[in-house]
Amino acid sequence: MSGASPGAEYKIKSACAGRMRGQEGGVSGRQSRYGTSRSVKLKLMSDSTFRIYGTLDPHVHLRSMEWSHKGTFATETAAALAGGFTAVLDMPNTPPATIDTPSLRRKKTDMAQQSLCDYGMWLGADPNGLIPADEMRQLARQVCGLKLYCGETTGGLLIDEDLMECYVEAWPGPGPIGLHAEGQMIKAFLNAIARHGKRGHICHIPTADAVKHLAAAKEAGVRATAGVSPHHLFLTDRDLDTLGPMAVMKPPLGGGADRDALWEGLRSGVIDMVETDHAPHTWEEKQQHQPAFGVSGLETCLPLLCTAADAGWIGYKQLPELVADAPRRVFGLPSAPPDTYTLIDTKARWTLDATEMYTDCGWSPFDGMEVRGKVTEVVIRQQAVFADGEVLAKPGDGIDLYEVLDETD
Ligand SMILES: [Zn+2]
Repeated sequence: MSGASPGAEYKIKSACAGRMRGQEGGVSGRQSRYGTSRSVKLKLMSDSTFRIYGTLDPHVHLRSMEWSHKGTFATETAAALAGGFTAVLDMPNTPPATIDTPSLRRKKTDMAQQSLCDYGMWLGADPNGLIPADEMRQLARQVCGLKLYCGETTGGLLIDEDLMECYVEAWPGPGPIGLHAEGQMIKAFLNAIARHGKRGHICHIPTADAVKHLAAAKEAGVRATAGVSPHHLFLTDRDLDTLGPMAVMKPPLGGGADRDALWEGLRSGVIDMVETDHAPHTWEEKQQHQPAFGVSGLETCLPLLCTAADAGWIGYKQLPELVADAPRRVFGLPSAPPDTYTLIDTKARWTLDATEMYTDCGWSPFDGMEVRGKVTEVVIRQQAVFADGEVLAKPGDGIDLYEVLDETD
């Protein structure tokens, strides 16, 4: 399999060099591109149209708040719709970190005003120690899960193995405990959730070794799931030569054997879902001596997966499970809502162009890549919110999926 995965077959143009925010084709004026959603009329679909109900990206970093210069809840949820995702789950490490009642309230207020797609939020484990049990129980009902940062990344939420164990023991659920980690810490986490009978989710699983540990844990009956990010599926550390800072992220890109193991894990079902880890930074921040970690991913994920399906690396039939059904199941949402779906023209052949994207950062490591599969329409609760390349929803149209759950139970 080595060297034959989709990422290896396509030449990636590093056309982002020198691209600055505000240049022609950039994102200024994006707000004016939002329209009004309209009711869906029944229309005939061609043979090449593929429909996925209830797409959900369980791992995004939407920025806004103190990092609005990188993107806002409005610009990045517009990117979600343009990329074919009807809902996203936002990570807690954008400042102010989402680690307690005031910070969660603040983010929920801002998201309610700005979000164009449906959403949920992760709670982050406070590196200063456990929050009171009552508060944790209250917060747990309003979020999709608890996120533990046990490896170097963006933000200041790094915790050590002892505090990881304390949080695993204390978390009441119902959402799973998500882990950001590399190497031995992944094994330690799998042991911890087994010891305490909790449900754990390994975020952006990075290496062949981690896949091996996950497979063994699942085999032993540990309640563990994992997601993989498109950049780990399509790029390797060799791409650092051509992509430079655009290939700098956490966990870092692995070698060809890691990439092959991730594809195999996806095919076999050991890896449960795809998660974009959408984490935009300004072009200037990526050009610094120590480039900021992370890449945008919401608008490239589905075309990349369709390209992989077209090449036979996964089946088209697997896509709904990977980008909708599995994340909805793991994060406690009803599956396949009949009035919320994404249409993809699987025959479309086109070139990813960062200047056309809605994300505020204006660059992508996949810029210039020829792909198969184009999102043609996104519908949420019977309203068309993206069609023919245009975002039709407006800020505030998205709903908090976990507030709704909380009210009904
Ligand atoms: Zn992340």
